[in-house]
Amino acid sequence: MKALKDLNCIQNFGEFGGVNPSISDSSTYTFLAAKTMFDTFEGNTEGCYLYTRHSSPSNLYLGEAMAELEGTEFANVYASGMGAISSVLLQLCQSGDHILSGRTIYGGTYAFMKNFTSKFNINTDFVDITNLELLEASITPSTKLIYCEALSNPLLEVADIRSLSKLAKKHHIPLVVDNTFSPMFIQAASLGADIVIHSLTKFINGTSDCVAGAVCASKDFCLSLKDVNSGAAMLLGSTLDSLRAASILKNMRTLHLRMSKHSENALYLAQSFESIGVRTVYPGLESHPGHQLMNSMIVKEIGYGGIFTLDLGTLDKANTYMELLQEHQLGYLAVSLGFYKTLFSASGTSTSSEIDIEEQAKMGLSPGLIRFSVGLDGDIAATFKRMKECLDKVL
Ligand code: PLP
Repeated sequence: MKALKDLNCIQNFGEFGGVNPSISDSSTYTFLAAKTMFDTFEGNTEGCYLYTRHSSPSNLYLGEAMAELEGTEFANVYASGMGAISSVLLQLCQSGDHILSGRTIYGGTYAFMKNFTSKFNINTDFVDITNLELLEASITPSTKLIYCEALSNPLLEVADIRSLSKLAKKHHIPLVVDNTFSPMFIQAASLGADIVIHSLTKFINGTSDCVAGAVCASKDFCLSLKDVNSGAAMLLGSTLDSLRAASILKNMRTLHLRMSKHSENALYLAQSFESIGVRTVYPGLESHPGHQLMNSMIVKEIGYGGIFTLDLGTLDKANTYMELLQEHQLGYLAVSLGFYKTLFSASGTSTSSEIDIEEQAKMGLSPGLIRFSVGLDGDIAATFKRMKECLDKVL
């Protein structure tokens, strides 16, 4: 078990000694010599900036912090989580290739693999990531990667990253892990993931004011993504704006405090709802099938994360409950996660609506399932009391 990382060990000062690095407010950069410009296009000159779609100092600072967070050699940042995911998949695969993916994943990623990459003859099998035998049996000579979410959206299945990594290594393919739900407390790369992806939009930024993403991996892979001739990220152009990169970096400084508080509050609510007999899923609960596995993977000081789900049985009940919660100022009926306020949505009709109903039923995603991203409430016991009063009106 790794100890809590102190991200504050990274410090880049501003131009005039400012405690925050200066923001690079330019899309293009001058060269003193024409030869250096040519060399930079060839990817040969470290520390030279060319054009912001390729890189910028502000994006490199945020990338540095992300690499530190995940313990990888390097990291690139992108304009969204999907910008990061689509770039990685298109970099690793070409026509005729096969992706092996967990079946409970974010709906946008599912739709990208099912409907978009298939247009280029890159096909995906979606399998139960907790069934290693089935997973191994699904690997074909064309399989180019194994993809999963460390904690899946929205079912909160726990991926056994160590075992998945062994399997991937045995077949000489990379393990790609989306760690959006579990920043800091699951250090996916140290458990064996080759490429770790984040939607920075969520906990890492924590203020719900922008979308952004990151890829944390080896330096070679990150540089290949921004190669001017063949880099998927460079050529698809999902570039994060430097101003945004600078603001996300500042928000990251409090990530450890926020994640601990999100986790503490989520554990309290999950235990309380479970104790009154509501079907509750949270990896910190002993009733969760992945609880022991979680214990063997997490950084204990942070906890089990800020997301839990309740299953109220029907969509009608879920919708009525969410509207009541919002009316009583207990959070917002909104997608996304990691905000200081609690956010909730019925996953089947929102962030997983890209997955068809039969498939949702097969994977155990009930229409009455509400996903909660728990906020930073100061008095969570009082919050639960009020949430329960609302629930009593619904059940
Ligand atoms: N990965 C997960 C687990 C997500 O929940 C999301 C968005 O909800 C994404 C990736 C996509 O991120 P973004 O919305 O920043 O593109």
